[in-house]
Amino acid sequence: MQTIDLHSHSRHSDGRLSTRDLIQAACDAGVRTLALTDHDTTAGLADAEQQAQQAGIQLVPGVEISVSWRHQTIHILGLRIRADCDALQQGLGDLRDKRTQRAQGIADQLSKAGMDGDAALAWVQHRVEGGLISRTHFAEYLMQAGYAKDMRGVFKRYLVKGKPGFVSLHWCEMSDALAWIREAGGVAVIAHPARYKLTRSKLIALIEDFIAAGGQGLEVVSSSHSEEECQHLAQLANQYQLYASCGSDFHSPDQPWAQLGRIPPLPAQCTPVWSLWSDICKA
Ligand code: AMP
Ligand code: MN
Ligand code: MN
Ligand code: MN
Repeated sequence: MQTIDLHSHSRHSDGRLSTRDLIQAACDAGVRTLALTDHDTTAGLADAEQQAQQAGIQLVPGVEISVSWRHQTIHILGLRIRADCDALQQGLGDLRDKRTQRAQGIADQLSKAGMDGDAALAWVQHRVEGGLISRTHFAEYLMQAGYAKDMRGVFKRYLVKGKPGFVSLHWCEMSDALAWIREAGGVAVIAHPARYKLTRSKLIALIEDFIAAGGQGLEVVSSSHSEEECQHLAQLANQYQLYASCGSDFHSPDQPWAQLGRIPPLPAQCTPVWSLWSDICKA
């Protein structure tokens, strides 16, 4: 159990909980410092900040930006950002427009595969209430329509590369995402680096490109990392003098493998990203 959790999602992107329920769940889990890092939007931050103050926990305003690097999707966390930054909002708005276009593409592909793509799109649009559309929402549709029993199964069968509902997308350049985060006063962190299944040399190329573009942090501890991956990332963080972050990547109470605060501690040799923040994470 950790009291600092710097990666979580709400209903403003592909999480299950409202910001209010997320903050409550963080409190219940013993988390004292929580970053809300919705995909490609900061829409939940103002409410979450107010609710965190009422609940007596610290909110780190964040975002998880979808980036394309060498034809692969990479997620970059912006931590402690100012959401009122124009460059950031312009960039995130463009990413959400791409998501809207992709949703139509996914619906078309599902139709081609003999499913009711129009019904899927209508269901998803209703579900997100004007918010952004993620593959997770299509996964929810497919599950409730009986195409698969669980989230992992539905992604594997329908929503990953080579499957009927996958539409590839060029998100944005990593250097652009880092520039927006910098302008917004935040710290950029490569999210769950072990999740991309990169070879060792490609992971190093990613880290070197990230540093060249001004990136400062590596998410060493994540629910999706094994103990071995975590140790390897801690060593890379030290070697490249990157700050280390930790987060559960919480989306929903019914994913037991990614629950708020339920992550191992940062390895002792790491320099935590919160050492940059003298006024928070010191409770
Ligand atoms: P998107 O950004 O819309 O392409 O959707 C990516 C999101 O889908 C990720 O942030 C995860 O929350 C979720 N996701 C991706 N792959 C899987 C998977 N294999 N199982 C469950 N959720 C996944
Ligand atoms: Mn997600
Ligand atoms: Mn991610
Ligand atoms: Mn995430």
